[in-house]
Amino acid sequence: MTARVPARVAAQVKARAAGRCEYCQAPQILIGQVFHLDHIIPRSAGGQTTTENLCLACSHCNIAKGDLITASDPRTGRLVLLYNPRKDIWEEHFRWSQDWQKLIGRTPTGRATVRALDMNAKLLQRARPFWRVAGLIP
Ligand SMILES: [Zn+2]
Repeated sequence: MTARVPARVAAQVKARAAGRCEYCQAPQILIGQVFHLDHIIPRSAGGQTTTENLCLACSHCNIAKGDLITASDPRTGRLVLLYNPRKDIWEEHFRWSQDWQKLIGRTPTGRATVRALDMNAKLLQRARPFWRVAGLIP
């Protein structure tokens, strides 16, 4: 179910994200689809429709995340919080592989998020070097 997001709030979230998925960094302009406004804490868990709880997410990440808040770290099996774009610093939790195809989790949260959101799906891996060449990912 889609939450009704006030236009002013939606505009603020989109501007802050600068056209990139706040999880996998996919550039909206190269995907060619309008990205979703993701409730970081799902509404089913009491998350509010506010700029503090919304982020811009590509459909791949948004659908994979669903109502998840936690996932297991594939290295330890421990349940950890997923990456929260409003509280966490992306570069602390993720890095690119040398060929720019994969996202690598640097922390338990990063590893759990990469796996839970299926951030290294084959098509994404094939697309990412083009994003890099176009200068659309940091
Ligand atoms: Zn994404």
